[in-house]
Amino acid sequence: MSPAEEPYLQRACPACGSESLDPTWRMTSEPVAETASFSDLRQSWRGFFKEGKHFFTYRRCQSCGQVYSPRYFTPGQLAELYRQMDDNTGGLPEALLAKTQRGYLDLLRHHAELEPGGYLELGPDIGLFTREALRAADFAPCWMVEPNLAVHPALEELLRGKEHHLLADSAEIAQVPDGSLSLVVAIHVLDHLLEPQPLLELLQKKMRPGGSILVVTHNQQSFIAQIFGRRWPAYCLQHPQLYAPSSLEKSLGRAGFQQVQVRGTKNYFPVMYLLQHFLFASGLGRVALPGFPAWRIGLKLGNIAAMARKP
Ligand SMILES: [Zn+2]
Repeated sequence: MSPAEEPYLQRACPACGSESLDPTWRMTSEPVAETASFSDLRQSWRGFFKEGKHFFTYRRCQSCGQVYSPRYFTPGQLAELYRQMDDNTGGLPEALLAKTQRGYLDLLRHHAELEPGGYLELGPDIGLFTREALRAADFAPCWMVEPNLAVHPALEELLRGKEHHLLADSAEIAQVPDGSLSLVVAIHVLDHLLEPQPLLELLQKKMRPGGSILVVTHNQQSFIAQIFGRRWPAYCLQHPQLYAPSSLEKSLGRAGFQQVQVRGTKNYFPVMYLLQHFLFASGLGRVALPGFPAWRIGLKLGNIAAMARKP
């Protein structure tokens, strides 16, 4: 059977394995993804500005509170969809993106002293955060888990002269020596994974005692998520689950991490870019606005960073 013909996956809670769902809450798109064909969803997968955005219905786990889609793409369908992804950054200027990354690093340094040792980053893209992290401590070797092969040359360039390994798949993390990593980083990765919990547990095993982990996700309980409702951009086909401070803290705790701390993070945007997205989310459609690249603003836009340590 080709991935396009497979029925969508039926999932238990990705955090605790329970199948019981809170009957009092659900978030659905109009139309829902569950009843759409794979070829329709393939069209919907790309692009932010689309009429009739689909997503798989989100429910809340009755046992642990994790928000997730009980129906979702199969691993084969996901592989096919991610092959057609290009740029994840939405065309934002690199200087603003770097400012956002430095904010993550400041939070991390505030949480714990960064010590040299192995470094592993999931989904580094072109290595914007990696570049900041390497200025903070002499990490080596560097393990980069990046399925998008198109950015591997940029990562090669960034890590030239350092011991490093570019991995295309998280299954390859098995080759990282146990107890060797000083810092593990996953920025906007966990809410994309079909099975985040076993991966967190594996990463914990690969870390040395006292090592730190930094996880950045969307915050499903943020003010902005509540006012936008189903139009909140993170309710989308790319996110099989969505975290909030409580569920992120529980997931890290369950994977064996301690001293978990969750903070809101700031993202830096050009003002006009924000206004354009705001108008779209308000239902006014795509509005062309002038650039004014110097107008920028740092907003706590509903993202959270969790820092934790391996005991
Ligand atoms: Zn659960």
